[in-house]
This record gives sequence, C-alpha cells and structure tokens, in this order.
Amino acid sequence: MKYNYSLKKLVTLKIGGLAKYFINVQSERTLIEAIEWARKSKVSFCVIGEGSNLIPNDEGFNGLIIKNEIKNLKVDGTKVLIGSGNNLLKIIHRLNKLGLAGMEKMAGIPGTVGGAIFGSAGAYGSDIKDYLVRVKLFDGIKIRWFSKKQCHFKYRESIFKRNKKYIILGAEFKLKNENPEKLYKISEEIIKLRKQKYRQGLLCPGSFFKNIVVGEISPAALKKKFLSKIPKEKVIYGKIPSGFLLETIGAKGMKYGKIGVAKHHGNLIYNSGSGKSNEVVKLAEILKNKVKKRFGINLEEEVQYL
Ligand SMILES: Cc1cc2nc3c(=O)[nH]c(=O)nc-3n(C[C@H](O)[C@H](O)[C@H](O)COP(=O)(O)OP(=O)(O)OC[C@H]3O[C@@H](n4cnc5c(N)ncnc54)[C@H](O)[C@@H]3O)c2cc1C
Repeated sequence: MKYNYSLKKLVTLKIGGLAKYFINVQSERTLIEAIEWARKSKVSFCVIGEGSNLIPNDEGFNGLIIKNEIKNLKVDGTKVLIGSGNNLLKIIHRLNKLGLAGMEKMAGIPGTVGGAIFGSAGAYGSDIKDYLVRVKLFDGIKIRWFSKKQCHFKYRESIFKRNKKYIILGAEFKLKNENPEKLYKISEEIIKLRKQKYRQGLLCPGSFFKNIVVGEISPAALKKKFLSKIPKEKVIYGKIPSGFLLETIGAKGMKYGKIGVAKHHGNLIYNSGSGKSNEVVKLAEILKNKVKKRFGINLEEEVQYL
C-alpha cells in the first residue's frame, strides 16, 4: 500500500491531486482483499484500469485507489477467459497471433479489458460486447458471473457504469478462427488510422462526450426539432457525432486555462501540460451550454469524473 499517491501518474490526461491510499493488485484474491480492507477501514475505494477515461479531481481522492493488473489469459480452442487487468491492445496482439478473430478492430483503444467492459468500448464498428459471453465479477460479497444479457450493454453503457459495486474480474469470449496474418493487417490498418485522430503524446481521455443516439432522444417533439437542424449525412449508423455539434459551435481550438479542444477534432479535450480538473469541468460546461443553445440537446460525458 502507498500513501498520498499522485493521481496524475495514473491517468492519460495527467491531472489530479493525491490518492490517500493506493495499491496495485495482480490477482482476484488481492483485489478482493483490498476492497475488504477499504470496507473495514470505512474508506471509499475505486478500482481503475489504465486511467484512459478518467478525470481525477485536483483535490485528490480521499480513499483507496486500486489499480487492476489481473493479467491471466486462458485459451481453450476459440473460448478465451481474459483477466480484466490485461491491456486490451496486448491481448489483441496475442489473439491475432493465435488466429482468434473478433477483437482485432479494437486495436488501439487504450486501457484494460475491464475498463472496456465497464464503458462498453468500441471502435470502427466493433464493440467489446460483440464476442463476449459472460463477465466474472465481485459484487461486494461474493464472486458471480453475469451473462452478456445481464450486463445491459448499450452504446457506451453497461450495468457496471450504473452499479459501481460490481467489480469486473474477467470475461469469457467466444472468438472465431482466422488467418493470423489477416488479423495482424486489420489491426495495423486501424492503428494507423487512429494515429491521425489521437496524435502521439496528446494528454487526453479519448472522446470527451458521447455521440447522440437518435433512437434515445425524447420527447418526440425535441427529437423532431433537433433533427431538423442536422444534415442527413451527419446521421451515421443511427448516431450523430458530438464532434459535429461541437465543431458547429466553434469548439475546435477553444481554450480554458491550460485545457483546450484539439484544433483537428471538436470532441477531443486535452491538457497542454499543467491543466487543472476545474478547468476541464469549466470548459466542458461552456461546450455543453453552447451546444444546448444552438441545438437544444444535452451532451453527456463519456469520460468518468473521479
Ligand atoms: C487516446 C484515446 C483514445 C480512445 N479511443 C477510444 C475508442 O476508440 N473507443 C472507446 O470506446 N474508448 C476510447 N477511449 C476511452 C478509453 O480508452 C476506454 O474507455 C477504456 O476502455 C478505458 O479503460 P481503462 O482501463 O483505462 O479504464 P479507466 O480509465 O482506468 O477507468 C474507467 C472507468 O472504468 C471503471 N473500471 C475500470 N476497471 C474496472 C473494473 N475492473 N471493474 C469495475 N470498474 C472498472 C473505473 O472505475 C472508471 O470509472 C480512448 C481513450 C484515449 C486516451
């Protein structure tokens, strides 16, 4: 256990104060023991992966941060059991080599498999849920399994986001056989494409706001009014990119203190080096207000505040 540990070191945005307590865990048993310690000591806790979707507070975290490094992998034909602390890209490289298909298009999404399940991550038409069969979790008392259905996956939504007591330990996937070379090529192509959006060294938490799912806008009158302001070609697979809304209100290149919006993408908030969490919150609020005023719609954060 470490004390007064810098949250900056744990997140890709490189902001935040100190965590009162910090521990890395490499097994299910040590993760559960850490949670039980927090309970007994009456301190709050948060299990994190690689901090690629997190906005910590400058005031720090008055509790225990548990960094999940459970890295087991068990392969049985096309059935694989993946520990939640595995880095997603490293796992995809291993699966590609084994000729196991299903995850290759998610190559380049930063973070752990657990973080991806929590946030129902996806990219380039491929989602973590696609080949997932069931999730192993700790519910605060015992270890359980949730079927895919029980995980309530939707676009960037899952039961784990809504009920933080469920801690993801691992997941079982049923993949397909494919030529390893073909899988390698697909992943490399995607990684190349992603490098254009996320330039190397950019301190950011990925896309800041969720895209707008047309089917989820209610009431109907709001939906009609909103859609009347959106060019048809901007509705892509039933979603309107927040980047488009943000670019329309002039977000690109905006700044608040040391936090800015990328010049090349309206939905990319970055830290220029010494940014503060209150600047992130303020800039997000300004952007949300402008979008609300122009389009009558509320943007919702994809990132998680800590
Ligand atoms: C450059 C960049 C590009 C990105 N591109 C994409 C993209 O294309 N698609 C996409 O979907 N996302 C993208 N993201 C966002 C991010 O990579 C994903 O959300 C990722 O899955 C988060 O994983 P993590 O391990 O870093 O989670 P963290 O950021 O550490 O945690 C995120 C949340 O998950 C919770 N959590 C983590 N692990 C567990 C667990 N085991 N049990 C319960 N809760 C847990 C945490 O408490 C926290 O609330 C991008 C981020 C960056 C920085």
